[in-house]
Amino acid sequence: MTRVPRPGLVIFDNDGVLVDSERIANAVMADLLTGYGVPTTTEEAIRDYMGGSMALVRARVRERHGSDLPSAFEDAYHQAAFAAFRAELVAVAGVSDLLDALVAADIPYCVASSGTHERIRLTLTTTGLIDRFADAVIFSSQDVAHGKPAPDLFLLAAEKMGFAPEDCAVIEDSPLGVTAARAAGMRVYGHTALTPPGRLADADALFAAMTEVPALLGL
Ligand SMILES: [Mg+2]
Repeated sequence: MTRVPRPGLVIFDNDGVLVDSERIANAVMADLLTGYGVPTTTEEAIRDYMGGSMALVRARVRERHGSDLPSAFEDAYHQAAFAAFRAELVAVAGVSDLLDALVAADIPYCVASSGTHERIRLTLTTTGLIDRFADAVIFSSQDVAHGKPAPDLFLLAAEKMGFAPEDCAVIEDSPLGVTAARAAGMRVYGHTALTPPGRLADADALFAAMTEVPALLGL
């Protein structure tokens, strides 16, 4: 087996990678869109919007359904999602051990998420992971003009952390995120929790459990 070069920096997506939020968040999204007259199931929300920013959801609903969502959409979504997160959100199994392994190997890491800074902080706090992420290593789609699938957010994270794109490894779980990492010129590993593996086929490798990631990173 070829030896895998260790990355200089590991960039984590948040939802579905660090925190197990996607089923909760997409159930909220499906209910809300259905209430706005765009009938949507949780599975459809996962398929069409997972990994994207609120701006992407708004644009796709306009494009596919011809509906302009009301201006209250973003606030209503965040209010309902945050309440559900406070009640039931947990970390993805094995994440804490993976972060320990990176610290032991002296490899820095950061988070680059389509969520707002408020959402990232709330989910990391609720799951007890916030102490593992200093303010300076949290990057949100709010920090760039174009969110995933554009490469901008991953490129910003790499630049601020002081690494070239080719030295970065991205951990993602959505097709939008894999596309963004590829466009940024980074290697990317795909978590197949909620996404059919075929939709993450552009990733360098896929994994079903966090315990598989250290080997993928050459640790
Ligand atoms: Mg995700």
